[in-house]
Amino acid sequence: MDILWILWMLPAALAVEETLMDSTTATAELGWTVYPSSGVSESSSWEEVSGYDENMNTIRTYQVCNVFDNNQNNWVRTKYIRRRGAQRIHVEMKFSVRDCSSIPNVPGSCKETFNLYYYESDADTANKVSPPWMENPWVKVDTIAADESFSQVDLGGRVMKINTEVRSFGPVSRQGFYLAFQDYGGCMSLIAVRVFYRKCPRVIQNGAIFQETLSGAESTSLVAARGVCVPNAEEVDVPIKLYCNGEGEWMVPIGRCMCKAGHESVDNGTVCRACQYGFFKPTQGDDACLQCPMNSRTTNEGATTCVCRNGYYRTDSDPLQMPCTTIPSAPQNVISSVNETSLMLEWTPPREGGGREDVVYNIICKSCGAGRGGCTRCGDNVQFVPRQLGLIEPRVYISDLLAHTQYTFEIQAVNGVSDQSPYSPHYSAVNITTNQAAPSAVSIMHQVSRTVDSITLSWSQPDQPNGVILDYELQYYEKDQTEYNSSVVRSQTNTAVIRGLKPGAIYVFQVRARTVAGFGRYSGKMYFQTMTEEEYNTSVQEKLPLIIGSAAAGLVFLIAVVVIIIVCNRRGFERADSEYTDKLQHYTSGHMTPGMKIYIDPFTYEDPNEAVREFAKEIDISCVKIEQVIGAGEFGEVCSGNLKLPGKREMFVAIKTLKSGYTEKQRRDFLSEASIMGQFDHPNVIHLEGVVTKSSPVMIVTEFMENGSLDSFLRQNDGQFTVIQLVGMLRGIASGMKYLSDMNYVHRDLAARNILVNSNLVCKVSDFGLSRFLEDDTSDPTYTSALGGKIPIRWTAPEAIQYRKFTSASDVWSYGIVMWEVMSYGERPYWDMTNQDVINAIEQDYRLPPPMDCPSALHQLMLDCWQKERNNRPKFSQIVNNLDKMIRNPNSLKAMTPLSSGVHLPLLDRSVPDFSSFSTVDDWLDAIKMGQYKENFASANFTSFDVVSQMTMDDILRVGVTLGGHQKKILNSVQMMRAQMNQIQSVEV
Ligand code: AMP
Repeated sequence: MDILWILWMLPAALAVEETLMDSTTATAELGWTVYPSSGVSESSSWEEVSGYDENMNTIRTYQVCNVFDNNQNNWVRTKYIRRRGAQRIHVEMKFSVRDCSSIPNVPGSCKETFNLYYYESDADTANKVSPPWMENPWVKVDTIAADESFSQVDLGGRVMKINTEVRSFGPVSRQGFYLAFQDYGGCMSLIAVRVFYRKCPRVIQNGAIFQETLSGAESTSLVAARGVCVPNAEEVDVPIKLYCNGEGEWMVPIGRCMCKAGHESVDNGTVCRACQYGFFKPTQGDDACLQCPMNSRTTNEGATTCVCRNGYYRTDSDPLQMPCTTIPSAPQNVISSVNETSLMLEWTPPREGGGREDVVYNIICKSCGAGRGGCTRCGDNVQFVPRQLGLIEPRVYISDLLAHTQYTFEIQAVNGVSDQSPYSPHYSAVNITTNQAAPSAVSIMHQVSRTVDSITLSWSQPDQPNGVILDYELQYYEKDQTEYNSSVVRSQTNTAVIRGLKPGAIYVFQVRARTVAGFGRYSGKMYFQTMTEEEYNTSVQEKLPLIIGSAAAGLVFLIAVVVIIIVCNRRGFERADSEYTDKLQHYTSGHMTPGMKIYIDPFTYEDPNEAVREFAKEIDISCVKIEQVIGAGEFGEVCSGNLKLPGKREMFVAIKTLKSGYTEKQRRDFLSEASIMGQFDHPNVIHLEGVVTKSSPVMIVTEFMENGSLDSFLRQNDGQFTVIQLVGMLRGIASGMKYLSDMNYVHRDLAARNILVNSNLVCKVSDFGLSRFLEDDTSDPTYTSALGGKIPIRWTAPEAIQYRKFTSASDVWSYGIVMWEVMSYGERPYWDMTNQDVINAIEQDYRLPPPMDCPSALHQLMLDCWQKERNNRPKFSQIVNNLDKMIRNPNSLKAMTPLSSGVHLPLLDRSVPDFSSFSTVDDWLDAIKMGQYKENFASANFTSFDVVSQMTMDDILRVGVTLGGHQKKILNSVQMMRAQMNQIQSVEV
């Protein structure tokens, strides 16, 4: 048995004995029943005798001494003893026995023992004959012998040796019992009999209170008792228990209670006391309360934590015993050293770390000046080594700054609690000005077209222009020559035609940009080859039948053939030019800012996949998580999902997919949208995140626009926006279009359906796919087949419809239509007129009327966009300025257009049906979808068109039209009715 087990088995508290009967306390005769009763036999049985105990107290005893008679059977029976719940009964007997050998001439039958019996009964029913004086019904407990060597008893009886024996029996279950002592031939005196049972006392042990518990029926039985934790203590793991053994002793403790958090154990574990003010205890257990750490305090007794004082904090991982800490002071002694457009910053750690070891540094970069006054945050292109945020060492290397620019760098010191402080981190700032620096190298150059003696090249702008690019210098030489034989051409744009080359020869090209700071580095060498004579001949032969075939269609093409023939005769025929005239117009247009980044048509690449690689970032499919389908695109489903690029925050994205089974051409057309979109970077142009081309399905991933396309968004929110909100949307679209037109990109399909709206109502131009213009797709009625491709007639300027003159000015026309769509909350331009009717109406100078509630300034701007002469239309920059003025001066938006005014003839508003086609006001109300007011109109006597046409807003209110949208609808229809009446009258006149 191991030592623990022994300890465990040791009684935990002393037993309590509860007496049921004690012969020594009897003040009168005990009056027990004796058998045989006196007179029945010659010798006498037990006799009650008064005597003295060891302390000479008077006691009542029973004596018997019939040693000289044979066959003794003398019983004495106690009175009825109530059990009182006890299951095991203990009997303590004090007696003396005469030593048989000390009696002279004693016969062999002399006994030195007696028997103890008990008999259970539910009531005190015993009498002289019952129960019979014999074992069974009596139950024998034991034969009792004196344990001392028998003493000499003085004949006078004065010296007695008293034995004490205790016996127990059980289980007992009746209400009570009798005891009996049987003598069978001895000489003895029963001096005292005490009957008791044992119980385990109420104790507080292991943090729990155990109530008094009676011991079990057997001497070996253990009675389990559940403890109840003392107040503010809780059980640990298992329910707490003690066992009460047969001796009335507690043992085998199981489980324990411990003081709760905020309380400590005192008075030997019998009380859990709340921690005093300024002390805390975070967990349950035996620990004492601890004093609050520095910069913290308690607000009440019994605290489990100490709260930080104002201005001090703790992180989730700070131990509660740790002092509360605060934000660090500013970094010190910042030293900066500028080298052209890069910079080294070094500093020393803050004087005060706030009591923490986890101070790191963040760098805030602001570029200042450039005449605009304030400072703005630097863009993403500035590089920080090792990083911008969370610097551990007090130094950082910053590069890719703009040349000649003033910057402010704030070096913030932050630590683990900075984000809990309501104050921004302390920082030290330095102002620096970068030096002049030449532009960085052009990274990519590609061939736009070639002939036998020329090559047309274009290239991207350097990533770091470091100033305004004045021009580019292109150096070239034949491949088997050296740089010393090189020629140089200059170009103000990022394209150049190099002429006078040898046929079929390979040339080496390098280009560099120039700013006021001088030339940048040359790009890497790139090799391009002119056409051979054979190639040239085949290309002309391939082209002619094609051209002649379609030329048969009309005079325009005859002229084209003539032109081509003339060009061919000049031998300077540039194969690609006729194909690309449309697309290349922007390279040669005069108004371009030198060095300005311009759009490159992906189809000018010999391999359009090259354009995708150049302009669109490849995304690994594992970074994309598709969530749900949100629409149908030209080439497959459009889904929403998440994009998680390494080192970047997860973002919500739209994912256009290319359905399986596509042809190579479809794949190219699909991805061309990404090559175009990838060249743009403007808040009002949909942003390309990248493409997935290395796995299937092929995808285009763009920023997600929560509100979908503008036309349906407006229809769903009819009448919900203020004029200023609508103008704000228009301003965004105009700003995106200004950016695109500055890049020389002509959209050709500007329409509300191709504008996307995000959750902040920011509108972005989208849909750069070209495929829907292609002849072979006839599924979409918006795009009507026209000479050389399909055209969205209602949105397209007349010159673009007639002779495909798509320019930024034709985009401005479309923009005017978008304005109308926006102001009419997504109404279809020209309603249900046929395309031919629209073309005819425009030709006759009819224009769309102002939508309901449209400020006249906006309608005027629409009309300006719809000038027949395209050079008279405003530029997008002017439109943006114009809208900005309106936003700044909302009063300018108060005036509404009176009906039929201005030089242009407005079309009648088809959204309001002609009243003359209805015979009753009720029918008319039904037609304008206001049928619910029929009764209101009738009861106010507005029952004829004459009266209705005179209604004012007050009248409309009075008949009980309370909803703003309905009031406007009715008022507008009434005004229309009036206008229609006037027209009828003038016709009649
Ligand atoms: P598209 O092929 O560009 O015309 O797209 C088809 C439809 O998908 C659009 O009409 C929109 O409803 C939806 N969609 C396209 N791009 C996005 C985007 N970036 N965010 C949210 N919805 C989009």
